[in-house]
Amino acid sequence: MPFIDYVIAGVIIYILYRLIRWQRTQQTRYIPFEVKRAVLKRYFSMCAVCPEANLLEFHHKKKHADGGDNSEMNVAPLCPKHHAMVTRNG
Ligand SMILES: [Zn+2]
Repeated sequence: MPFIDYVIAGVIIYILYRLIRWQRTQQTRYIPFEVKRAVLKRYFSMCAVCPEANLLEFHHKKKHADGGDNSEMNVAPLCPKHHAMVTRNG
């Protein structure tokens, strides 16, 4: 097999890899690191409801299933207790 075939195969695999990674950020609940950092800064690294600063989870204000995205404005940090409360009550 000529060398150029290996190059083309490598490029195709790289494009597929990037495409899968991009899809993950678009379609899953995955929140980018930069968004998490911005959200924590906005909420002073505390739960949005109480002063809990450890064990924070990231809550989608608008559910991912309802079209909510992973943008800074749609994500809020919550402690496990309040996350459970919000999730239960919708
Ligand atoms: Zn809390």
